[in-house]
Amino acid sequence: MYTIRPLKQAEIMVPLGVVQILGDMQRLVVGPVYIWYLEGDIPVVIDAGIQEPVNGFVHNFPVLGGGENGVREALSKAGVKPEDIEILIITHLHFDHVANVQLFHNARIFVQKKEWKSAFDPPIHYRLVYDTKMIQPLEDMDLCLIDGDVKIAEGLRAVFLPGHTEGHQGVAIETDKGTYLMAGDHFYTRFNLNPPKEPIEMEDVRGNKVQLQPSPIPFVPPGLHVDLREWFDSCFKALSVTRREKIIPGHDPDLVDKVIP
Ligand SMILES: [Zn+2]
Repeated sequence: MYTIRPLKQAEIMVPLGVVQILGDMQRLVVGPVYIWYLEGDIPVVIDAGIQEPVNGFVHNFPVLGGGENGVREALSKAGVKPEDIEILIITHLHFDHVANVQLFHNARIFVQKKEWKSAFDPPIHYRLVYDTKMIQPLEDMDLCLIDGDVKIAEGLRAVFLPGHTEGHQGVAIETDKGTYLMAGDHFYTRFNLNPPKEPIEMEDVRGNKVQLQPSPIPFVPPGLHVDLREWFDSCFKALSVTRREKIIPGHDPDLVDKVIP
């Protein structure tokens, strides 16, 4: 049994059109980058966060926080250090999920085999979001390349959810309130998972109002993906793992400092 702690490691600013397909590319919205600590039988972390920004930017995105300090500060909220972690699950190898992997040198690290291959030969539009210098050091660590849905430990299961990337995975986590699914970047926010039926007002980074339009479809894809048909299939697969309200999006601003369930 586990308790899920989304611990904010950094803040990244991205155009609304990255969060929601066909959204406004002029509006920047702020999203947290989380280190997911699972408190339970074994110390587990999902995703290793983003690097420290250079002149305020990482890969052309404005970023606050990040790097080793960001990881240590985030984990300290749960009273642990990266060295304590025994299992590290990487949802996918985009630069904001894998940058600080070397800090977790006592962990077995779980990545999908398809994701590993794709990171070294990505579709052209993803060349900038995979940083092979960041990924290569994993080969010298305790790297487990897994294939599809695999039990990682008691109460923890990898769930293959391709679409956002070729080898993207979520993690099914047993809690005392049933199974939760940490969905990684398959859903960035609750708006991808539970599209609004009425227009919703949000604020952009300058404090301007941004309107999210109601959606006629049951899931709204993020603007970044490799295969939309696969992405939609993975949405229904996610629902076969657990109820919609127990699916956790990967960059939702409302999860900062939450303890789930
Ligand atoms: Zn991603």
